[in-house]
Amino acid sequence: MNRTGYPGLYVHVPFCKTKCPYCDFYSIPETGYVGEWLKAVLREASLCVPGSPPFDSLYIGGGTPSLLDHDDIEGLIAGLRDVCRFDDVTEVTIELNPDDVTKERLALYRSLGVNRVSLGVQSFNEEEVRFLGRRHSGRQAQEAARLVAEGGFAEFGIDLMYGLPGQSARSWRQTLGQALSYGPAHLSCYQLTVEGDTAFSRLSREGRLDLPDDATGARLFLTTSQYITGQGFIHYEVSNFARGEGCVSRHNVKYWQHTPYLGLGPSAHSFSGRRRWWNHRRLEAYLRHLDGGSSAVEGSETLSEEQVHLEHLLFGFRTMWGVELKELPGEGRANRLEDLRRRGFVEVRGQQVVPTLTGYLFADRLPLMISA
Ligand code: SF4
Repeated sequence: MNRTGYPGLYVHVPFCKTKCPYCDFYSIPETGYVGEWLKAVLREASLCVPGSPPFDSLYIGGGTPSLLDHDDIEGLIAGLRDVCRFDDVTEVTIELNPDDVTKERLALYRSLGVNRVSLGVQSFNEEEVRFLGRRHSGRQAQEAARLVAEGGFAEFGIDLMYGLPGQSARSWRQTLGQALSYGPAHLSCYQLTVEGDTAFSRLSREGRLDLPDDATGARLFLTTSQYITGQGFIHYEVSNFARGEGCVSRHNVKYWQHTPYLGLGPSAHSFSGRRRWWNHRRLEAYLRHLDGGSSAVEGSETLSEEQVHLEHLLFGFRTMWGVELKELPGEGRANRLEDLRRRGFVEVRGQQVVPTLTGYLFADRLPLMISA
């Protein structure tokens, strides 16, 4: 939850050794540019941060942040601490790829104040990780999860993916069971979807990617939620589960609660509460602008009050906190709400309207259904 109302800080590390065929995040394989990227990120921070309230979350994502070597990650975190103010109790998260996990690396992160790690496993199944083009094997993913679990972090999370061609509910439940056996505080479970300009989108256009139909996807989603909440977790966002409210990702909740955040690095997005802006996506353009003393921002938009309200509903219905009753459009509200309640999409709890599990399946459509 948003404890302080302070903004979050995101850093995009735009390097991956190889490109996973489903991934649309910006990354390049040329790690020779890490030094230039690091200097540019710290320069960008020094341009953007003055005057900002303290941050209470720092999220280092990508890309593959665990590709950064000892000096670079140390330089990044120390450099940010020099330029930015952080709340005393800041959530510091780093994303890890299983094939980068070593005891030494985990100890380094702890010594730098990282208190949360997010392990991008996707699957423990050998065939599935091969299909997903991951650099690690299922066995490596298991070993990495074990090391992270023993790594002494206050909280760690595991990211998984379902809805793979031919994946049975049984095999998915096995993956979930295996992930839970390591005792994570957090699980993110994303359904495989075809995104933008990816190798999978090309395969899909050629009719060579056989993803589950909507009904199967919905069944897998329900299986996922029932299985994980059955182990005592809360399903706090469509794709995210936590061992309790204290274990939700404070940083990611900011995105869904419209709390301001600042993004540094190529392709990073920022939000001020009304204005949204984004950096140049390609590293080359990002470096060129900062080297030339100008801003890395490529574009921006200012949301109207109506847009802010609609987004607020859209994000709110993706989470277990829902939206406040008074935020729903007044005219005919009671009838529409009653209709959605009868159809099992929402529940009214005091002054909050919250999505049910079925409601999560239609999260993107609920704001329109409730306003129509
Ligand atoms: S999924 Fe992660 S490791 Fe794979 S290309 Fe995308 S950012 Fe890199």
